[in-house]
Amino acid sequence: MRKLFLLFFANLFLSTAFSQKTFIWCGTLIDAISNQPQSSKTIIIEKNKIVEVRDGYAQPGKDDKVIDLKKMTVMPGLMDMHVHLEGETRKGGYVDRFTMNPEDIAFEAAGHAQTTLMAGFTTVRDLGGSGVNIALRNAINKGLVVGPRIFTAGKAIATTGGHADPTNGFRKDIMGDPGPDKGVVNGVDDCRKAVRQRYKEGADLIKITATGGVLSLAKNGQNPQFTEEEMRAIVETAKDYGFKVAAHAHGAEGMKRAIRAGVTSIEHGTYMDDEAMDLMKKFGTWYVPTIIAGKSSSDSAKVPGYYADVVVPKALEVGPHIQATFSKAYKAGVKIAFGTDAGVYPHGKNYLEFVYMTEGGMPPMEAIKAATISAATLLGVEDKLGTIQKDKTADIIAIDGDPLKDMNLMKNVVFVMKEGKIYKQ
Ligand SMILES: [Zn+2]
Repeated sequence: MRKLFLLFFANLFLSTAFSQKTFIWCGTLIDAISNQPQSSKTIIIEKNKIVEVRDGYAQPGKDDKVIDLKKMTVMPGLMDMHVHLEGETRKGGYVDRFTMNPEDIAFEAAGHAQTTLMAGFTTVRDLGGSGVNIALRNAINKGLVVGPRIFTAGKAIATTGGHADPTNGFRKDIMGDPGPDKGVVNGVDDCRKAVRQRYKEGADLIKITATGGVLSLAKNGQNPQFTEEEMRAIVETAKDYGFKVAAHAHGAEGMKRAIRAGVTSIEHGTYMDDEAMDLMKKFGTWYVPTIIAGKSSSDSAKVPGYYADVVVPKALEVGPHIQATFSKAYKAGVKIAFGTDAGVYPHGKNYLEFVYMTEGGMPPMEAIKAATISAATLLGVEDKLGTIQKDKTADIIAIDGDPLKDMNLMKNVVFVMKEGKIYKQ
C-alpha cells in the first residue's frame, strides 16, 4: 500500500515536471531563417525542444518558467566546424607530445570544452586529435563534462610524413612507421582500413590532410600529400559508414584532387584559385576558412622561439593569405561554413572569426548564418539544429548588444542553453 502511494506521488511529480515549459522573452531575435532581426518575440521550450515561437512577450502558465532576455539579442547556439579541443597553442608546445599522458590531455580537453560552450558554441566539429576527443564527446553526452555537442573525426588521416603523421620531427629510432590505426596511410587499402578503424573507434566523420600544413614539423605547407585515387578510396569507404570527409588543404593541387574525390569540406583553402572555386561550386563542396588561425599563427611566428624553426617561415607566409581567399571565395559564391581551428589560437576567442569574416566582406547576418544554419547543413543535421523554429532542438544563446552593428559584440555571450538545459545565465 505504502509503495503504491509513493509510486502515485512519483508519477504526479514526473508529469508536472515534464509539462513545465520555459518561456524566453527575446528583445531581438535572429532566428537564422529570416535575413531581418525581429523584435519582441517569445520562444517556448518543452524538455529539449522548441515547441513554439510567438510574437510579443507571451504570458507563461503558473508552472512555467520565464527567462527575461528583453534587452538581449537571441540567436541559435553557434556552431564551429573546425576545432581541436585536446590542446591549445603555447610557446614551445611541441614538447607536450613527449610529456603528456592521455589522462592529462583529457583533463585539459574538458576545460577547453567548457570554455567553448560558455563562448556560445553549442556544437563543434573536432577535426583531429589523439582519440581523447571521442571520449570527450561521450563524457559530454553522458553529462559528466560540460561542453558543446561534438562531432569528432577522432584521429586525422595523413600519409607518411604528411601533415597529421604523429611522428613528424621525431628522432629516427622513435619515429617508427605508423600505420592506419595511428592515422597514417599509403595506398588505397590503407585508406580504406583507416576509415574503418575510425568507425571502430567511434568517430563521427573523417578528416584528411590533403596537403602539407603550417604547424607540422615538415618543410612544405602546401604540397599535395595524397593521390586522387587514395582520396577517392577514403571518400567511398566513408560513405559506407555514413561519414562525411573534411579535407585540410592549403595548396591548390591537393585541394582540387580532394574536391574531385568528393570531400564534403575544404578547411583553410589558403591558395584556392579560380579553378578550385569553380570545382567547389560544381561539386557543392563547403569552404571552412579559419581566418583567425592564419592570423594568429603568423602573429605567434613573430615571437622568437614560439614555434620550431621549420614552422616559422610557413606560418609567416600562409597566415595572412586566408582572409583574402575568404573574400574571393565569398564573392565567387562558394558555400561557406564558420570554422576557426580553435586550439591553434586560445579557445573561447572563436567570436573573432565573425569580425574577420565581416572585414572580409560578408554581411553580419550571413556570418551568423554561416555559424548556424549553414554549419548545420554541412553536418547534415539541419532538421534538428541551426535555426530557432518549432521542433528544433533548444540550442539558444543571447548576446548583450547588437552584433549586427558590431561583430566584436559576439564575445558578450550572456546566456547559453543546450538541449533545453541552461549552462550560462
Ligand atoms: Zn585544424
